[in-house]
Amino acid sequence: MADLTALTSSAYQQALEVIASVEPRIADATKQELADQRASLKLIASENYASPAVLLTMGTWFSDKYAEGTVGHRFYAGCQNVDTVEQLAADHAKELFGAEYAYVQPHSGIDANLTAYWAILAHRVEGPWLEKFGAKNVAELSEADWESLRAELGNQRLLGMSLDAGGHLTHGFRPNISGKMFHQQQYGTDPETGLLDYDVVRAKAREFKPLVLVAGYSAYPRRVNFAKMREIADEVGATLMVDMAHFAGLVAGKVFTGDEDPIPHAHVVTSTSHKSLRGPRGGFILATEEYAPSVDRGCPLVLGGPLSHVMAAKAVAFAEARQESFQTYAQDVADNAQALAEGFKRRGITLVTDGTDNHIVLLDVSPLGLTGRQAESALLDSGVVTNRNSVPADPNGAWYTSGIRLGTPALTTRGLGASDFDYVAELITQVLKSTTPGRTSAGAASKASYVIADGVAGGTKAAAAELMEKFPLYPGLDLS
Ligand code: PLP
Repeated sequence: MADLTALTSSAYQQALEVIASVEPRIADATKQELADQRASLKLIASENYASPAVLLTMGTWFSDKYAEGTVGHRFYAGCQNVDTVEQLAADHAKELFGAEYAYVQPHSGIDANLTAYWAILAHRVEGPWLEKFGAKNVAELSEADWESLRAELGNQRLLGMSLDAGGHLTHGFRPNISGKMFHQQQYGTDPETGLLDYDVVRAKAREFKPLVLVAGYSAYPRRVNFAKMREIADEVGATLMVDMAHFAGLVAGKVFTGDEDPIPHAHVVTSTSHKSLRGPRGGFILATEEYAPSVDRGCPLVLGGPLSHVMAAKAVAFAEARQESFQTYAQDVADNAQALAEGFKRRGITLVTDGTDNHIVLLDVSPLGLTGRQAESALLDSGVVTNRNSVPADPNGAWYTSGIRLGTPALTTRGLGASDFDYVAELITQVLKSTTPGRTSAGAASKASYVIADGVAGGTKAAAAELMEKFPLYPGLDLS
């Protein structure tokens, strides 16, 4: 077999030369991004490092092709190769997740969620409404009937997890379109434990009677029992939609099974492909056969031309995730998160829910007298890339926050194990304990500025780079 590392290295060297011949600053920024990613501790829970095969698949002429429609049913000529790509990606997704149906066109997680919401509305509201009035599609409706259908579509209810409890913007957050297109209510977590309380979700659902119950999260460091969520949805006649964007890799890698696997329990599952699943940046939808015809109408419901080059890369990533080694990876992601959480607890750092059982660790930095913004900036100065995040009922709001969200997918891809993550907890704790809030120009306590004790940022940055040298990113890829 060819030496793939050498091939990858020369492929990128040559690609960058071609790019530099047109716009050298883009070639330089691309090289610098690799250097930065190589040297820093990437702990952003939604990021990963896709394989060279996935990355290279995105850089082809499939990018040039329009292919609105579905496999074998396109609004453009010449889509035979896109059909091959889309079908393969969908087949791999179905096999990987054990789903009845897969739709791989959404360009991102938000696109997947919007497509899913409109598909649910089409299936649950528009379909029966058209049937009642004997119309085949909305184009056949009189102006008056169309207006009343529009009113009906705009009068539906959605119940999702609140942003500060760890839900996503698209789960009914008012400033997001999901909070505007639906009447929305949100469920949170228990104020004492920080855990999801299914009885509270059930009570809210009984009272609010949503059309859509959304489960899934961006910043909740615990597993969810989707069998229980389905029970609640069934009790109130809701469609259960699970957004597994964050933890799709743990589902694919069989860490989340049984009640924790959303596929057998949800009517519709949405996801991104680029987080713990380690694929290209994009979205996809899995659904039961019942919802398939409505999801297939993603274009023209919500989407335009699919990104064929990204669908090709999804196929490659799904094929990678079907290999046994991906299951080992996924288990390591979860084990490493445990090690990271334990490392923090031993060093006296407060964790939301007092731990983790997925890939996320959420630090509450308020006991250290810091905001999330100060902690995030101090860590970045120290070579540790994280993001600030609200904690439940956050007194500092969504901009400054009181939390730091960490995730293990990216560094696990680089090969770090439990003892390395304990060391990462040590480095982060040192930075946080050496940081104090700064003052505004008027002398008041600032939520943004901060002071790090002399030498700590530089020392940690060097330690982080030294650690990362032991776990090279794209080993053998030489762009010098
Ligand atoms: N859903 C969840 C749960 C997410 O965490 C995210 C991303 O942060 C999204 C959807 C949106 O994904 P994208 O950024 O690809 O639109």
